[in-house]
Amino acid sequence: MPGPEPCDLLVRGDVVLTMTDGLPEIADGAVAVTDGRIVAVGASNDLAARFDPADELVGGIVMPGLVNTHGHAGMTLYRGLGDDMPLERWLHEFVWPAEQRFTTPENVALGTRLAIAEMLASGTTTFTDMYFFQATVGEVAAEAGIRALLGQAVIGFPVPGCPDIETSFRKADELAATYRDHPLIDVSMALHAVYTLSPDQLRAGAEHAARLGVPLQIHVSETTTEVANCRETHGMSPPELLAETGVLRAGTICAHGVHMTESDIALLRETGAGVSLNPESNMKLGSGIPDVAGLLASGIGLGLGTDGAASNNDLDLWDSVRLAALLPKGTGMDPEAVPAAEAVRLATRGGAELLGLGDEIGTLEPGKRADLCVIDTDAAHLTPAYHPTSLLAYAVHGSDVVHTVVDGRPVYRDRRHLTLDLPATRAAVNKLARDIASA
Ligand SMILES: [Zn+2]
Repeated sequence: MPGPEPCDLLVRGDVVLTMTDGLPEIADGAVAVTDGRIVAVGASNDLAARFDPADELVGGIVMPGLVNTHGHAGMTLYRGLGDDMPLERWLHEFVWPAEQRFTTPENVALGTRLAIAEMLASGTTTFTDMYFFQATVGEVAAEAGIRALLGQAVIGFPVPGCPDIETSFRKADELAATYRDHPLIDVSMALHAVYTLSPDQLRAGAEHAARLGVPLQIHVSETTTEVANCRETHGMSPPELLAETGVLRAGTICAHGVHMTESDIALLRETGAGVSLNPESNMKLGSGIPDVAGLLASGIGLGLGTDGAASNNDLDLWDSVRLAALLPKGTGMDPEAVPAAEAVRLATRGGAELLGLGDEIGTLEPGKRADLCVIDTDAAHLTPAYHPTSLLAYAVHGSDVVHTVVDGRPVYRDRRHLTLDLPATRAAVNKLARDIASA
């Protein structure tokens, strides 16, 4: 009889939640990993007999890592700086003035490192960024070992690092060249919104992204003000303007989509664009409540996001899972509106598919990249464990994550960061925050 096969890592749990169609849950399960990819998923006893692992992790629930489909990682620096005001006032009076003064590559690196620490510690293995200095963000993400979809922000007025949109396009070119074959980093172009870009600029951005072969991100129909102004200025809703300018297309990630009509949603479906739902940010900014159940029923691609830490105010994607499951029940007075498993699917497989990474991540099955997190269920609020998806949607917090693995590499283990120095990062952020507060 041949001896056991070597493997790099064996992750065992009381339950393995694969998020695949055929075999969603395996009691006393395990996942074997080699060269960054999953090589087997099955009963713990079987895999323990079959493999001789170089390393092992153990916990309660083993599941795909969470995919955060919208955010501005560097904005952790402005967490709590200006709360409790509408989006437009918040942007004009707090965010944009602070960013003009403090958004340097060094500060973006610092804020992004803090964001990544928070995301890895709460089980997020992929994040989507829409911000400035994306070359720096890519370096910090690669160093920390987290998967990222970069998005150089394209805005129709001078912003940090980009005096005009041609410079933003050139930076997107450089990013696409740098990260063409990178195992962790992918590139998109992030057009900010219909209220910060002219139709010609939107069209130019869409054409540029098509030439580069990268997906687009854009904020869409986030507030009633955005929609009303767009109708008044252009005679169209934001999705209509985006369809007209070529921005809505297969793979386009529309952040928010809070205020869309049936025909707007139909436009997204026809073009193949999807929505990143950010309910916590929408509620905090008083923007409204996205129609999670209606969007699910429409069949368009959907994922969950946190948005930036300045409008959430944390990057714990489990809050978005819970809101995605609860809000439709409350607003529609329908407890069956979005089941727990569906909300968990949005945060994992749904998000991976929305970002165009569905072939590589989002489920635990042989052949996929090994991006996963492990929940410690040894806690009062997670006892008893009848249904893992119920715990995940309604009871888990980010702090229940005990291990996080990205591309087969444990980057957060026994609740400790292995790839970044959190105390040093926090000290540097607190020092900078004193300057930001006094300005
Ligand atoms: Zn945003």
